[in-house]
Amino acid sequence: MVSSHSAFASAPTESVGLRSETVRSANLATVLRVLHFGGPTSRSEMVARTGLTRSAIGALIGELVRTGLVVERRAMSDGSPGRPSPVAAVLSDQNVALAVEVLVDSIGVAAVGLGGVVLHSVRIDRARDRVSVDRTIDDIVDTVARVRPHLAPSCRIIGMGVGVVGIVRRSDNSVSIAPNLGWRDVAFGAQLSAALGEAFPVSLANDADMAALAEVRRGAAMGTDDALCIWGEVGVGGGLISRGEPVTGASGFAGEVGHIPVNPDGRQCQCGSVGCWETEIGEGALLRRTGRPADGGRAAVDEVLCDAADGVPAALEALAVEARWLGIGLSGLINVLNPSMIVLGGLFGRLHPLIAQQLNDEIMRRALPSASAQVQVVPSKIGADAVLLGAAELAFAAVLTDPLGALDRHDALAAVR
Ligand SMILES: [Zn+2]
Repeated sequence: MVSSHSAFASAPTESVGLRSETVRSANLATVLRVLHFGGPTSRSEMVARTGLTRSAIGALIGELVRTGLVVERRAMSDGSPGRPSPVAAVLSDQNVALAVEVLVDSIGVAAVGLGGVVLHSVRIDRARDRVSVDRTIDDIVDTVARVRPHLAPSCRIIGMGVGVVGIVRRSDNSVSIAPNLGWRDVAFGAQLSAALGEAFPVSLANDADMAALAEVRRGAAMGTDDALCIWGEVGVGGGLISRGEPVTGASGFAGEVGHIPVNPDGRQCQCGSVGCWETEIGEGALLRRTGRPADGGRAAVDEVLCDAADGVPAALEALAVEARWLGIGLSGLINVLNPSMIVLGGLFGRLHPLIAQQLNDEIMRRALPSASAQVQVVPSKIGADAVLLGAAELAFAAVLTDPLGALDRHDALAAVR
């Protein structure tokens, strides 16, 4: 899960400024977050959104323009009296995060500009025998090299965020265990950083956490304080947000919903236990139920979805079982966490249109009425880019918390290279 110093902690709705020069850094961050999450904003809108004075806003935007994070343009008059208010916007193509998604069967790399704009992305499929740490790092370095020529030569790479399908210790950017990759105790952030040989910082997080971050920031759960994002492909992960904060647990490992034991007579799980939720709802389970090899991957899943849409009985039956197990696990989570929204992503987002009614019936049957009455279950709004957009937010977190401090550190690191 995401540590307390996270991009979660800076919700755009909380962007209320403070009237004091001693908190200039916090106010710069406030203004930058409004532009990053809310898009181009006029000075008068900025005054309304931050509570800061017009002259303070002018000075803060001037400072952000000087650093190259922001540009300000003269607005066209809208016909109202007085001079038109200039409009500030982030300089997306000049301030870039490299976002990486490490899945079992593919690696994605996106250059994401400040403001959450995907400037260029490349995804490579890979055979399941290429998942070793060394080969994964080679594949990331190669894919980054394919993305970089598409960026403006003058652009500043603020950082790299990596979402990996495994349990991540955020304090030292290491993977504790990634059952579906066969990794255990890997200092992945440090190894990747060394292989890249770049000045920018590399931050590592669990892929489902990053998808959750994107959904809360820019997607289906925007503005929601109590949300669960359940993300699945081969493995199943979850990002849990309670009262606007991520549920992290004592060591930061909370949210491993895929390993909730649900079936005492179930299959062996990659984590070492038996009958975990992901053994009943992950990609392998769905494929097995239609008589396909469990490792058939995305193409085989798409076949099942097409068959179901065509009314093929075996596919419909497999989806009904999937909906049942999905509903069983979600009902438990609803009872424990009382979310107002559950966002289903990855495999579950694609399945949702086909199983929505069955899933809803299952939740109504099993969850406590007091908790299930108010919960909305929706598919991911961001879709395939959610992990990458979340990983980009992870990379931008420092500059959105302390713009000048983060840029000073960036420049200092770049100078010694
Ligand atoms: Zn497990």
